[in-house]
Amino acid sequence: MSKFVFITGGVVSSLGKGITAGSVGTLLKKRGLKVSNLKVDPYLNVDAGTMNPFQHGEVFVTDDGAETDLDLGHYERFVDETLSEKSSITTGKIYSSVIKKERRGDYLGGTVQVIPHITNDIQERLINAAENLDVLIVEIGGTVGDIEGQPFLEAIRQMAVRVGRENVVYCHVTLVPYLEAAKELKTKPTQHSVQELRRIGILPNVLVCRTSHPMDTGMKNKIALFCDVPPEAVIELRDEATIYNVPIALHKEGLDDLILKYLGLNHDSEPDLSDWARVVDRYINPPEQVNIALVGKYVQHKDAYLSVVEALHHGGISHNVRVNIVSIESEDLETGDPAEILKFADGILIPGGFGVRGVEGMIAAAKFARENNVPLFGICLGMQMMVVEFARNVCKLPDAHSKEMNPATPHPVIHLMEDQENLRDLGGTMRLGAYPCDLIEGTKAAEAYGQLKISERHRHRYEFNNSYRERLEKAGLTEHNLVEIVELPGHNWYIGGQFHGELKSRPIRPHPLFDGFINASVNYMRIRKGEKEA
Ligand code: GLN
Repeated sequence: MSKFVFITGGVVSSLGKGITAGSVGTLLKKRGLKVSNLKVDPYLNVDAGTMNPFQHGEVFVTDDGAETDLDLGHYERFVDETLSEKSSITTGKIYSSVIKKERRGDYLGGTVQVIPHITNDIQERLINAAENLDVLIVEIGGTVGDIEGQPFLEAIRQMAVRVGRENVVYCHVTLVPYLEAAKELKTKPTQHSVQELRRIGILPNVLVCRTSHPMDTGMKNKIALFCDVPPEAVIELRDEATIYNVPIALHKEGLDDLILKYLGLNHDSEPDLSDWARVVDRYINPPEQVNIALVGKYVQHKDAYLSVVEALHHGGISHNVRVNIVSIESEDLETGDPAEILKFADGILIPGGFGVRGVEGMIAAAKFARENNVPLFGICLGMQMMVVEFARNVCKLPDAHSKEMNPATPHPVIHLMEDQENLRDLGGTMRLGAYPCDLIEGTKAAEAYGQLKISERHRHRYEFNNSYRERLEKAGLTEHNLVEIVELPGHNWYIGGQFHGELKSRPIRPHPLFDGFINASVNYMRIRKGEKEA
């Protein structure tokens, strides 16, 4: 019988529920259990595919091509398990399926209602996702009291009846704010949020309290008394120097022992967290720093390139350097001087994006990096703009990104994919998920991966136009099949990938291209330093 840990949140959003859920996954996996994570998003969108990065941050893509909430990225990085379409549920998904069943007559003329039809559909998906697992960790997006979240909270309340109270743990992440004027921590918001949960019939077993100041025993006892949990179930979670310390911090507070105890699972052995301790140490105390320019078009939103930023740090952890990421709005390179703006950079990364705005700035960054031997890594749109720059400036070829963007160009080097052309009227379609790629022996990419057969995740509508292949190759650009990767031999590091390698990077196992890119940037930084000192 699979067991469930439900993570809810109270008081405010952005408390780090996703990181808590991921950390619980890490800790339970380290105890030898087979675990996975699932995210519930109470919004009406069917998936995150149509969501603007400015509003909702990055869209995380799974191997099977689901476009999901960025919390799935945290889960994959923390738990190191590959997730799927099943790992993400939204109100939109649930209602679409229930309404489809209703239209088909599956409910035999019955009145279709939130309880039990919507709540049953939710529960069946949870049970289905937990198949073959010891524990499924389910995070409910939003905060208790949100109108949209109510059917989900009702569904998880019923789960205790359905699978047995001994098989579920309710873990509530809440805020214990510090009031500067009073110079003390306040428990009242937590009390209210637990009251709200109890009003709908959920009695939390564990409270994870986010706080900026240490909580003493008296404070913990007070929360325990008012919220009806034992004092050891009041877990303090302070702001950490890195999110990768959260599993260690939660373990010190005894969270994993407590969950295992409640679930009737063995908790005798200690989890081995030495790899996490090493990650944290290298993140916090590296001897050197490398400066990376992130030239993107959604740089104002802190989460728009979340996985890219994390993958860069993973590269830094692997090479024992601090990665100082400086965001550059690509449009600024259209008006300013790229050589001046980018002169601090030991490496330049151009990430993915959609639409024409800012692409000329990305092209300018690619040109600067190519001409000056600065390590350059392009991802998806970034790789496409590297190709456009090369075609325009090296091959003197027509260079439009696509026919839409410049109708006067009959044969753009980056064009709409053929199958996407046929689907044009449907809108919202893309090449999504994992596809294999064969690398060319002797290339930098093959060296970075240490193998020739790879599989990477995609999310794009445009691709390299193969009719230009020969001409670009003649001018010195190496391309790997389907033009998944381009690289310039002889350059310090000039690699662009059509796929999103950042989605598969892990703190303990950085993605090979991020690892290689940071390595090249560190070498470049040392050369420049040497030149300055000489
Ligand atoms: N807009 C480009 C395309 O659709 C790039 C997409 C991306 O960067 N994810 O192909």
